[in-house]
This record gives sequence, structure tokens and C-alpha cells, in this order.
Amino acid sequence: MNDSSQHKETLPTDRASATEAGSNPHQVFAIGAATSLVESEPLVLKYGDAFGVFDKNGDISVGHANAEGLYYKDTRHLSTLSVTLHGARPILLSSTLRDDNATMTCDLSNPDLYDREGHLRLEHDRIHVRRSRFLWDAACFERLSVCNFDDQPHRLMLEINFSADFADLFEVRGIRRALELDAHVSELAGEIPSPIDIPAGCRLRARCPLAQPVCAQPVPYREVAPGHFAACHLV
Ligand code: SF4
Repeated sequence: MNDSSQHKETLPTDRASATEAGSNPHQVFAIGAATSLVESEPLVLKYGDAFGVFDKNGDISVGHANAEGLYYKDTRHLSTLSVTLHGARPILLSSTLRDDNATMTCDLSNPDLYDREGHLRLEHDRIHVRRSRFLWDAACFERLSVCNFDDQPHRLMLEINFSADFADLFEVRGIRRALELDAHVSELAGEIPSPIDIPAGCRLRARCPLAQPVCAQPVPYREVAPGHFAACHLV
């Protein structure tokens, strides 16, 4: 297999040089391809003033210039969205989009998962993850279902990461604002707790800057405002 730099050296850059070199005209205009356009083709959902652009895994990749995101009235309300299994991006099995762009379904499975010592903990394709998503009434709904096809139980950490940059659609397309606001992405210090040794009480307490001794006790899950629920001792 040749890499792209080798292609640049061997292929003439224009028709004249090609003629001089006596090359095959089909080669002159050849465009090297290392990735599949079909694979990178985004999945687009649309409903009313909302639309979403996602990759085949159902994720939204990080990046100000990346057009992926969840938009409402031309403002991007989600600029990062990813689901990881035990810290790893799941493997794509298939993804489908309904013809009317109303719903999408992504079928994923676990890659090989290793423990901290580098030992294989779980072989690939044992855990199936299905993401089913649709937009409705200015909201994005998603159901995540996880199914273990192994012959023994496993405890895995499933994480959902998200952030918002509230970029205007024109900014996403490359037009700069007069006043630039930095996207604020905060990151918690410390390590994600091991799913096979989950800490007692609040699972976040080793990393939470507000943690108190009481956080070692079971955390209450209660309604803190109509329709809004929280699991925290301090709320
Ligand atoms: S219960 Fe609340 S304050 Fe305590 S560690 Fe968890 S998130 Fe932080």
C-alpha cells in the first residue's frame, strides 16, 4: 500500500505535466481516498425549529468548526455528546435513519476492554448498546438500552459526556463574532471510580470539590423543583 505522500510524488499535478510525462489521463485527475465518505456521512434529525447533526455512533464530536451538534432556532445547544463504555468509544455495528429524518437508531458494541494493569477484562462484542433518538417539541429524546450477551455478568461504567458552546449557526459555518466568547468546558480532577469497586455513598465524592463527610452516606434522590430531580446531599 502507498501513502498519500507517495501519490503526490508519482502523480503529475496538471494536464500539461501529465502530457509531458505521457501519463494516463485517468491518473492525472485521480483523487486519493483513505476514508469512506459514506462512513463519515452524518445522521440528521429534524423537527420544527430543532435539528441535530450526529456521527454514525450518534455522537457529536468536539470542535468549534465542526458542524455536528443539536440546534434549536439556529443556536447550537449541544456541541459535544459522547457515550463511552468503561472509558472507550463503542464500536459501530450499524446506524439507521428513518426516511423522513424523524428517528435514528445506532447499534454499538464494546471494544476489547482492559483493566489498569493492561489485562483484557472483557472481549469485544459482548455488550450491545442501542441508541434510539428523536426530536419532539423542542427537545431531543434518547433511549439507551444495554444488553449483555456474555455468559457471565459484568459491571461496566457507562458515561455520557456533553457540553454546549451556544454557537450561532453562522459561526459554526465560519463567520466570527465581533465579541468572542470562549466555550467553557470544565473537567473534574481525579480519576473515574472503578466500576468493580464503586465507592460507598455518592460515587462522585472523590472528585467533587463540595464533598462533605455526609457524602459517604447513601445519596437521596428527590424532586428539588417541579419536574427536576437531583441526587446530592447538598441540594
Ligand atoms: S453528594 Fe453532592 S456534594 Fe456530596 S460528593 Fe456527591 S455531588 Fe458532591
